[in-house]
Amino acid sequence: MEKTVTNTETLLLVDDGVPQATILIAQNPTSVTHLAAKELQYCIWQITGVTLPISNQLTETTGIPIYLGDLARTVLGVEKTSQRNIGEIESLVYDIYFLPGAIILYGQDTKVSTGVEIDYSIATDQQQLDSDKLQIPGMFDQQGTLWAVYDFLERFCGVRFYGPKAISVVFSRCPTLEIIPENIQRRPAIPHISGSLTWDWPLMKGQFGSPSNDAIRLYERRMRLGGIPWQTNHTLHSYPERFPKSRYPQFYGGEGFEKLCYSSDALARQVAQDAQDYFEGAEALGLGLPQSSSYYPVVPEDAAQYCQCIRCLQSLEPHQNDVSRSKNGVNLFNDGRASHLWFKFVNKVAKLLAKTHPDKFISTLAYENYFWYPEGIQLEANIAIAPCLAVRNHWHLDYRQNELEQYALWAAESRPLFLWNYYCFPEEAAVIQQWQCFPGFMAHYLEQIIKGYARDDVKGVFLCGIGEQVDFYITIKLYNDPLQSVDDLLDEFFSLYFGPASEPMQTFYTLIEQIYSTPQNWDQDGGFHQTEVMAWGRLGTQERMKQLEQLIEKAEKLAIEQKFSERVRYWKEGIWNYMREGRRNYLCGES
Ligand SMILES: [Zn+2]
Repeated sequence: MEKTVTNTETLLLVDDGVPQATILIAQNPTSVTHLAAKELQYCIWQITGVTLPISNQLTETTGIPIYLGDLARTVLGVEKTSQRNIGEIESLVYDIYFLPGAIILYGQDTKVSTGVEIDYSIATDQQQLDSDKLQIPGMFDQQGTLWAVYDFLERFCGVRFYGPKAISVVFSRCPTLEIIPENIQRRPAIPHISGSLTWDWPLMKGQFGSPSNDAIRLYERRMRLGGIPWQTNHTLHSYPERFPKSRYPQFYGGEGFEKLCYSSDALARQVAQDAQDYFEGAEALGLGLPQSSSYYPVVPEDAAQYCQCIRCLQSLEPHQNDVSRSKNGVNLFNDGRASHLWFKFVNKVAKLLAKTHPDKFISTLAYENYFWYPEGIQLEANIAIAPCLAVRNHWHLDYRQNELEQYALWAAESRPLFLWNYYCFPEEAAVIQQWQCFPGFMAHYLEQIIKGYARDDVKGVFLCGIGEQVDFYITIKLYNDPLQSVDDLLDEFFSLYFGPASEPMQTFYTLIEQIYSTPQNWDQDGGFHQTEVMAWGRLGTQERMKQLEQLIEKAEKLAIEQKFSERVRYWKEGIWNYMREGRRNYLCGES
């Protein structure tokens, strides 16, 4: 990040309840700039009680002009911004820029939004107001001006977006808002965040107090999900239907073999053709890929069963013992039995793509039985890789060791490195099987591992499940700026969010985190996924639950003011009652 100190003269945007600034946007603003102006106006109103005017009349400005988006470019002159079209990551850079007596907030913005329409009144819990529908930017639309505004609100105005509902956003209330200028030019350190967003799972939904869909969509923008377009998931499951063996025998391993054959050159040519077509503008069939991505995904079907023809067996048989087992023989899921077969295939596809689109990538996963790095194979330079890490199971130490050893091999290469991270654990099994899990809080381990991602130049993370309020927030903030300290982020969260109840609430979080993050509390000889028995037989013991209950009761007594008592209530209902019910059900089921 570049920081330069400008003149130290402070800027007064609101003076004791009197507006001293105007938000200026172009006459026909992009939907990005439109939302950016609304958000700036709304948050400053929440802080000061004053509504700054939004105007497109440059000459009739009262007070300090705050230029947004396209208009900012006009004010600054084109030459300063023209250098920005230099690559997908550089294009994410945004500016908070101060001129004498003026503020400029801008970045690269998509002209036509691919996002959904929300009702801003509902999204900001102002249901008493008239409906106010607007289109928000899509996940991978460029929205640099919006990012500049959010960064400005956090960095200069003290706003903290801790959740989707208005009650979960922290505003430092004061009738005067004074800004100390400091130019900022930056982008998020990890330039892609996306995921399978489990907003409606019990823990997150409870902590957020069941927010509206519109509030959640707006919160995704406030947390700056998106960035460079990339999506990599299973892709080849549709091929057998699209290319049945009866008509495309060359894609299969011969008589008696019904699976796609990853030794087939013809199949590699077809996949490469699909990639080439995508980069020429064709829609990728059934894959729902983002627009303008430089990465075409090629991944076998989930729980893949591989062709057993003679050529495939030549790649599979020598590696049939490349399995990951704990000392006691527990299967650790991610291994290398199919790595050689799979990555030889990906290599063929990548070579073909390089002939026509040398600046594009074949993107694949390192997952399940092709998780291990395929030793002895020279992978093509135009392959992007995404190892899939279940970091929330890393307190099963053999499991952690297997994942991190292989991750290190992948990360040592100079190729685009993305990740899948499963924050769906430990809640997923509980959601599916209808029991309650012991929460997987682990902020301090997240700090350690995310700082490693930043050092390894990880380009993006797909969160398969988003965890809970604090771990999600910490994760996104550290992706954005890994130099931050998790202790600072946690101290700030608990003191701002719970006020006088911060001490027992932080102890509540920390106690759960310590219980979850202690390897002795996990069955190191057993499986690496949390089970109901593990949740309430090993982690949430009677004694620990008693301690947690006392902390919640203490917090309830201390949180008098309505906003604090409501936030404590969300945690009590979302986390504590959920846990208590889980343990009770476990005990009743046992007897
Ligand atoms: Zn085969």
